[in-house]
Amino acid sequence: MKLVLKFGGTSLASVKDIQNVAKTVSSLSNDNKLVIVCSAIDDITDQLIQISELIKKENKKDTNRILARISQKHKQFATHIVTDPKIQKSLLDKLKSDLSELEELVHGLLLLGEVTPRSYDYLISFGERLSISLVSFGLQQIKKRSVPLSGKQAGIVTDSNFGESRPLMDTTKIRLSKTIQDVFDKNTIPVVGGFAGADQHGNITTFGRGGSDYTATIIASCINSDEIWLMSDVDGMMTADPKFVKGAKLLKEISYAEAIEMALFGAKQIHPRTFEPVSYTHLRAHETPEHRGSRVVLEKKNGGGGGG
Ligand code: ASP
Ligand code: MG
Repeated sequence: MKLVLKFGGTSLASVKDIQNVAKTVSSLSNDNKLVIVCSAIDDITDQLIQISELIKKENKKDTNRILARISQKHKQFATHIVTDPKIQKSLLDKLKSDLSELEELVHGLLLLGEVTPRSYDYLISFGERLSISLVSFGLQQIKKRSVPLSGKQAGIVTDSNFGESRPLMDTTKIRLSKTIQDVFDKNTIPVVGGFAGADQHGNITTFGRGGSDYTATIIASCINSDEIWLMSDVDGMMTADPKFVKGAKLLKEISYAEAIEMALFGAKQIHPRTFEPVSYTHLRAHETPEHRGSRVVLEKKNGGGGGG
């Protein structure tokens, strides 16, 4: 089966979580062709947003403090997740290069004392740029070939509506399917950063908060995958937000239309545009004992795994 597997930030919150993700991916990769989509780890996107607020207030001290915390966290995770010296060195080199790009950007913005919509997207896209390396090199550590790709590198092309961009599906399909096929041909698992792509001028764009779900369905549509699994730390789609409603129930199966409705009416669980790119009928909540929560599965309308 061709599968797109998306892991949210809470599934990547600790060293152990990321190691578990690598194990899950590794075992599924024996029988399936996989594209992995990752969010930023845990609350990193929130911290990047905080940085943008601090820059506007010209608060250099706290900006640098948060920046240092982000940097330290990723480096620390890296040395725990990857212990093979050679692989660890490549990972640390990759992180260092991404982190110094982030630092340069932040220092530039501090000098200007302003954050435009365009630089804001560039800034908040860094969470996924960093998390994909941890997951991808985590796979290499357990002897799986893998490569990290940002949304831009994967070939996701969008309009220039910063903060709430939409993919240009025709261009994206051509670029992305080629990138992914080349990676598949090398027997390698692509780990793609969710949430962001780039416009036709190469500027980084984002899809809005929670946009990694959207990245997963965009990719699934472009490579014609059989299923999409949205892995989550909650038990799939619920009748209500369990944080607020006592006795909220797990929906074992809901229709595609119901899923769209739920996403549109603010079920925070899933990005509102998630269902646009794909004609998948079923959305099922699966329990995943190997994982803390469960997964929401989108199945293709015709053929593939069959009805639920
Ligand atoms: N990291 C982004 C956010 O926190 C995208 C996502 O997690 O889906 O909104
Ligand atoms: Mg989410």
